[in-house]
Amino acid sequence: MKEARAMAIKRVPELAESTVGVESFPGFTKPARQRWESIPADIRQRLLSNVWCGHCRHETTITNFSGTTKGGDLLLVGQCAECRSDVARVIEGS
Ligand SMILES: [Zn+2]
Repeated sequence: MKEARAMAIKRVPELAESTVGVESFPGFTKPARQRWESIPADIRQRLLSNVWCGHCRHETTITNFSGTTKGGDLLLVGQCAECRSDVARVIEGS
């Protein structure tokens, strides 16, 4: 999924255009990025580094994540930094 999207972005210039300025978060939708950027950096860092991995059975760091919004919540989906299992974090809307 993620790879396919990255390839699509490379192939479709308009898609790449829409993500200008989000080099560090290429998989984020615009509302998700705005939401994410509204969170203080230290909190963001904490949110990323205490994601539960069901495979490792402990908290881990999420990597290669993308962001979407769903019903007012921000949803981050990525991989465990240790075992590469799929992990996700929901940041609830205020
Ligand atoms: Zn893991």
